[in-house]
Amino acid sequence: MAARILLRHVLRCPPARLVAYPEARLTAEDWAAYRALVERRQAGEPVAYLVGEREFFGRSFLVSPAVLIPRPETELLIELALAHLGGCPRPRVLDLGTGSGALAVTLALELDAAEVTAVDLSREALWVAMANAARLGASVSFVHSRWFDALCGERYQLIVANPPYVAANDPHLGQGDLRFEPRSALVAGADGLDDLKTIIAEAPHHLDDDGWLMLEHGYDQAATVRSLLTDAGFTAIRSWTDLAGIERASGGRWPGRP
Ligand code: GLN
Repeated sequence: MAARILLRHVLRCPPARLVAYPEARLTAEDWAAYRALVERRQAGEPVAYLVGEREFFGRSFLVSPAVLIPRPETELLIELALAHLGGCPRPRVLDLGTGSGALAVTLALELDAAEVTAVDLSREALWVAMANAARLGASVSFVHSRWFDALCGERYQLIVANPPYVAANDPHLGQGDLRFEPRSALVAGADGLDDLKTIIAEAPHHLDDDGWLMLEHGYDQAATVRSLLTDAGFTAIRSWTDLAGIERASGGRWPGRP
């Protein structure tokens, strides 16, 4: 599978061409380029970084080692956002730690009239996200910020985030694609909860009354995230399972100041 994706990338051809013309011969140049990619893949580099793109919610996003590779389970946040904002005429939406921009750009394209803002602490990530917005024709405001720091006084109807949530000593960090992804996009303190805690504590200052906060988190963090949301004063708190049946996102409604 990976071999085909790499070959298609070298030949810049649609998938069907490899099947339709199996007898086609590679030029020496294409063969060398293909071999080089195969070697890098064998050394562990993620396919998405080798070809520079990955599909998310049916669209192709540019990726570089400056950003986390979009995951299929993160599409859950899109589905939740669309379900919760269905009736809103012109919702203001915030994506925290946008990375490649997968969430922000998809929401801007799926929600016609939404006003979408996306922040990231990494300038390199913001360049990738901006390129994706431009390429896909999405209107998104990008802000360089550590979580809410640069958003003083701004409020939103919906805040989504796929923040870092992996524990610093998690052995998965030494395996597969994670070895090549930015640590700053993956790791959040000893238990992986540092950034989720910050976001949950600060979100009430940036949500409209009856606005929603929706967070992706680790496979074993749902109960903790729900209790953090409860402690912060959220209501209608629940978790949602991804396609693998794992509680992968949790959220709640901000009732407004008492
Ligand atoms: N879902 C990623 C993983 O596979 C982690 C992404 C994140 O920390 N936001 O570990």
